[in-house]
Amino acid sequence: MTDSHPQVDTIIVGGGIAGLWLLNRLVAEGRNAVLFEQSALGSSQTMASQGMIHGGIKYALGGALTGESEAIAAMPGHWARCLEGQGDVDIRACNVLSRHFYLWSTRSLTSRLSSFFASKMLRGRVDNVKPDDRPPAFDNPAFKGSLYRLADLVLDVPSLIETLSAPHRDRIFKIDWSRARLQRNDRQVTHLQWDNGMKLAADNFIFAAGAGNESLLAQLDLEQPAMQRRPLQQVLVKHDFDSALYAHCMGSNPSPRLTISSHRCSDGRMCWYMGGDLATEGVGMSAEALIDKARRELFELFPWIDFGQTEWATLPVDRAEPKQSQLIKPDKAYAERACDNLLVCWPTKLTLTPDMANQACEQLAPLPAGASTEAPAALQSLEKPVIATPCWDTLF
Ligand SMILES: Cc1cc2nc3c(=O)[nH]c(=O)nc-3n(C[C@H](O)[C@H](O)[C@H](O)COP(=O)(O)OP(=O)(O)OC[C@H]3O[C@@H](n4cnc5c(N)ncnc54)[C@H](O)[C@@H]3O)c2cc1C
Repeated sequence: MTDSHPQVDTIIVGGGIAGLWLLNRLVAEGRNAVLFEQSALGSSQTMASQGMIHGGIKYALGGALTGESEAIAAMPGHWARCLEGQGDVDIRACNVLSRHFYLWSTRSLTSRLSSFFASKMLRGRVDNVKPDDRPPAFDNPAFKGSLYRLADLVLDVPSLIETLSAPHRDRIFKIDWSRARLQRNDRQVTHLQWDNGMKLAADNFIFAAGAGNESLLAQLDLEQPAMQRRPLQQVLVKHDFDSALYAHCMGSNPSPRLTISSHRCSDGRMCWYMGGDLATEGVGMSAEALIDKARRELFELFPWIDFGQTEWATLPVDRAEPKQSQLIKPDKAYAERACDNLLVCWPTKLTLTPDMANQACEQLAPLPAGASTEAPAALQSLEKPVIATPCWDTLF
């Protein structure tokens, strides 16, 4: 590599969880990898996520493990090792919001579901919570339902993005596609070309840009892999009940009726961030109508809580994934070749990102001996992206 014709091993496009996790993996393997982000790091689905690193029990509310719930079961353990500095990516600096998630139903569970939760298969993954151990939101005699604790983690996503990006600030750059283009030569992507004449060549290219993968592929006249978007409309409420809650409410569907995560806003107030069926069924509703529904839902589920002064907002956001028949939810992470040296990745869930990175790493060309590991000096004059602000600090 010379500075007039810089060359790296891998160019990653997209700075959400997928791109940043890959950057950490590849650099740890001795690859000279750089990442290009068009707006702010984590700005799309990653920062909108609820931060749950789950083992798939929320997909088993029908009373049976599906292929999907089994594939994901190993993930909380994988992330826990990374949090201890003993995994493939070091995330010891990341804040953990909770070491477990709750699952509750307003009534007693069906005997099928309660014997499933008590089964050997789920030992250590789902525990019944005794009345004395209830979290503050359920610590009231008026609560008559069933409450379980899941061995899932909840991460503070802004801190996760900071943890993954901080060690590699000299490898992360902002890109303005009105001034740069990817160049392809038959079955190979060759380089990134800026309109000021600068070029950056690479052996491998990885698109990890979430919904942006579609337009990146179009830029190279590639039609595959096709992408799907599954929309959600999340609901946020800031309130005066100052306890965090991380919990799924089971309703009559096999998916959670409501999923609540809790986030401290920059003004110090508590925000409950709500997804689940509320967010899927809320797609296409006006924000006012959905907030009305969420308000009724919350007051029906927690009649004993005084939420004090509340402020409400909604966040419409798409999940971007590899296309499935009939727009169903994919059950695996995705990392496949679009041409000889281009991989396209969608983790499909924050949780499955390590699995996506394993798949991607296995498909990269072998690392050439003696290659430079230093990020090219010629790139250092490029602008650097900031970290995105979470929605609980932008929407109110
Ligand atoms: C509301 C919601 C809640 C969720 N909650 C959870 C959860 O609790 N647990 C879980 O496991 N999963 C969850 N998910 C799924 C999870 O968030 C996503 O699977 C994951 O964040 C996708 O990460 P990504 O890096 O592929 O994409 P994104 O997070 O969308 O990141 C893509 C990045 O690429 C950048 N980009 C886009 N186009 C370009 C381009 N042309 N050039 C350069 N950069 C580009 C974007 O600006 C962005 O920074 C949730 C999803 C949503 C929508």
